[in-house]
Parts: sequence; C-alpha cells; structure tokens
Amino acid sequence: MMFKKILIANRGEIAIRIMRACKELGVKTVAVYSDADKNSQHAQFADEAIHIGAASAKESYLNADVLIQAALASQADAIHPGYGFLSENASFAGTVASAHLTFIGPSADSIRAMGDKAESKIRMKRAGVPTVPGAEGLESESDFKKAAEEIGYPVLVKAAAGGGGKGMRVVNQVEELKEAIESARREALNAFGDARLLVEKYIPNAHHIEFQVFGDQHGHLVHLFERECSTQRRYQKIIEETPSPLLTPELRKQMGEAAVAAAKAVNYFNAGTIEFIFDPQPSTLNLQPFYFLEMNTRLQVEHPVTELTTGLDLVQWQIRVAAGERFPYSQEQITQRGHAIECRVYAEDPANGFLPSTGKLLQYIEPRGPGIRVDSGFRAGDEVTHFYDPLLAKLIVFGESRETAVQKMQAALREFVVHGVTTNIDFLQDVLTHEDFAAGNVSTKWVENNFKWTPPAPSFESLVAVSLTDSSTSIGNNVVNRQSEIVNEHDPYSPWKNPNGFRN
Ligand code: ADP
Repeated sequence: MMFKKILIANRGEIAIRIMRACKELGVKTVAVYSDADKNSQHAQFADEAIHIGAASAKESYLNADVLIQAALASQADAIHPGYGFLSENASFAGTVASAHLTFIGPSADSIRAMGDKAESKIRMKRAGVPTVPGAEGLESESDFKKAAEEIGYPVLVKAAAGGGGKGMRVVNQVEELKEAIESARREALNAFGDARLLVEKYIPNAHHIEFQVFGDQHGHLVHLFERECSTQRRYQKIIEETPSPLLTPELRKQMGEAAVAAAKAVNYFNAGTIEFIFDPQPSTLNLQPFYFLEMNTRLQVEHPVTELTTGLDLVQWQIRVAAGERFPYSQEQITQRGHAIECRVYAEDPANGFLPSTGKLLQYIEPRGPGIRVDSGFRAGDEVTHFYDPLLAKLIVFGESRETAVQKMQAALREFVVHGVTTNIDFLQDVLTHEDFAAGNVSTKWVENNFKWTPPAPSFESLVAVSLTDSSTSIGNNVVNRQSEIVNEHDPYSPWKNPNGFRN
C-alpha cells in the first residue's frame, strides 16, 4: 500500500527533489532541519518541518535516534534518506525497520555486503563480475610485496573500509611499498577504525563509468544504462553524462549485464549504482576493459541524467517499490533517447584548490528553457554556510545529441547568475569547451594533470553586486575569514573538513 507520509532525512536540493516526487504521488512530506537550516527552502517546501538539532551534521542529519523519533512523532510511515548522511548506513536502515518504519532503499544486508571493499570484491568474483586484479586479506609486508609483484607495478593500496578516496596510495615501485602501507593503515584506522588494506593493479588514465540498477522486492532487477562520470576533481564528480562517449553497444551490453549480476549477487532492490573503472587502453591488462569498483546502495546525485534519457522518475519508483509495487518494465522495454549532461554548480573557488566559499547569495538567477532542469535548494538572499556540502545546484540539460547537449549546457551556464560567493561556473564552462572534453578523452585525473585553468577577471556586475549589498566586507577579506572559519570547524563529519566528502 502507498505510504501516507514520508520523512525526508536530508536537506537541500535532494530533500526538495524527493518531496516533489512525494507530492506527485499524493504522499504527505515531513522535512527535518538543523539550526543552520531554519529558513532553508527544503524546510518550507514540506507539509511539516521538524527541528532536529544543532547545525553540525553530527548533531542533526547524522543523528539516527532523533530522526526516528521525528518520524514516529509525525506519524510518518517511511523514511527516505536521500544521498550522503545516513543513506548507506546499514545499522540506520536496520533501526528504521525495527521501529516499524519503511527505509526507502535496499535492505540493511545489501548495504552491509557492499559497504566493505574486500568483502564486496570477493562476492563479485564469485558472481563472475570482473574485478581489478589484486589481493585481499594481506597481513605482513612480504605478503604485500609478493602480491604487488604478481600484479605488476604500479599498484594501488586501498583501505577495505574505505570511502571518499581515503586510505588510498598509488605505489609505483617496490621501494615505496612499505611507507604506503604504513600511511594508508594509519589513515584507514583514523578515518574508519579499521586498518585492513587490499592491493590492486593501478589503472592509469582510467574512466569512471557507472550503471544505474533498479529492482523491486519481487526479484525483478534491471539496469537503466550508464553514466560517464570521469570529469572529477579530488575523486569528486563535477560533470556527468549519458550515454558515455566511450561505450560501444557491445560493451554497454556486457557492462549492463555485469551490473545486473553484481546487484543480484547481494539480493538488491530499490535504486543502486554499480561503479566500474574503465580502461580505455585495455591491452595493458589482458584486454579486459572494465572492472567492478564499488556499489553505491542509494540514490545517486547524478540520477537526473538517467531520468531525462529514459523518461523514468527514479525517486517516484524508489517510493513505489519500497511500498511493495512491482517494477513493470523488462530490460528490453527500457530504452534511452538523446543525450543528457549534468554540471554540479558549487560554491567553491577552482583557482584556489576548489576551496569552499561561504556567504550570502546576493544575486541568484537560475537558467530556464526547453530541455533545462535545475535541481537546487537555494534562492537569492540565502546563506551558504560552512556546515554542509557547498553544492548550489545541479544543472541538467537534454539534447538530441551530445553536441547539442553541450551547446545547451554552455548557453545555460552563461545564463546562471550567482553573486556573493565564488562559484565554479566559469571553470565548468572552460572544461566543456576543451577539445579533450569534446573528444570524450577526459579521465578521472584529467583536471589535475592536464587542465591548466586561469579564472577570468571578476566581472563589473559581480563587483557592483558585492559592494552595493554587502558594504561591510571586501572580497579579499571574505576569502581570508572563510578559510579560518573552515579551519576552526571542529565537526569531524563536516564535508568541509573532508574535501572528499560524500559527493559521489
Ligand atoms: P572510494 O570508495 O574511496 O571513493 P573507490 O574504490 O571508489 O574509492 O575509488 C575512488 C576513485 O579512485 C575511483 O573513482 C577512481 O577514479 C580511482 N581508482 C580506484 N581504483 C583504481 C584503480 N585500481 N586504478 C586507478 N584508479 C582507481
């Protein structure tokens, strides 16, 4: 039976996105908000809003007990976790179920099985899904040495409990191995309380290609094609698109089948993503072009590009299958049309190590027009604080072809006006016009290694907007204050502390 009321255990653009789906389905919505989000758009967009605690995520959006109490007090019958925060926390999913509420997502067991890199790799191998050549369960330095020699340098040492690129070290030769193991162990123990490491072949110039999977609770599971997410900085995606310019129909079919097999191996239902590492020069590795990397057991930030090209509303379907409905489409019935691109518009400074930028949005005008979608949680006058991820908006466009989609994205970015914080809009624009991007030649390290970017001089309009509305601060001062504010932030869960955050 369809839910009557859903509590959305998240904030910002994704909370609003989920509420829209609820409203279309005739389901009432409950927002939760922290001290910092009192006046936020997501709290106002819901039918009810409940205050859940202090601004730091640990004391609000990561506080499982308070979230469950809020759901029970508001008589909600389900919780949608969105992405980030508690969305991939198996024990939260379990506690929600024990409170007789529905967790809109997979089972706690599926989350747990895919949460550990070593365990999930072993499971995937058993299910016949290609994984990066490597070894798990290693203890002594000599074990690592032996494994690395068999695999062949360069190798990558990874934390088994890892996430957000933490506890990962590229090792080019045997002399670097000891130090890499020690430092990765320390970092892993610190970040995850778990020092286990695995080692695998390092694939240079790799692309990140992921497949959306979707299943109901009656054993039916399909894939909804791929997303190319290789344009990244510091392991974080900034531009995503579908279809991938690199995939042939044959590879797409093989990877789609592998994605379905991977998800079925953990009895998966609801929306999930199988991430593959894609080797554009597979001859170096026995001709195998793609390997399972990890599964994200939740809704993905970049789900809109899949929605625009398949015509399916993924969030509505998440809710419907969580309520027990069958997903009615067979693999053959699901088709992709045209090309969609998403750009993540961040309040950050690409010229200064992508450092987040805080402040009041003095002017904020989103682009509009046919084939343009903006998922955002901000309006003019809102404050970007240092407590949460500085994603301002997701700008998504649809075109008949990749070329027309790129053109549309460029025009839409030109229309996007943000004054008061530094944004990555000019940076995104320059990536889109680069010949490597046009050729689909952007690997996950491309921004770091191949893209030298210099910002344009600030426009007259932006200087006027800042000085007219906020005469107490100069632009230069703001930057200094914001940096020290971030350094002083004591919340270990703050995405500002961990630049690798949850933005996958
Ligand atoms: P995390 O969970 O910490 O994000 P992942 O295993 O998903 O770790 O890897 C993060 C990123 O690191 C990938 O998106 C990819 O860019 C890179 N990466 C991971 N494994 C390899 C590998 N074997 N070779 C080259 N790059 C890799």
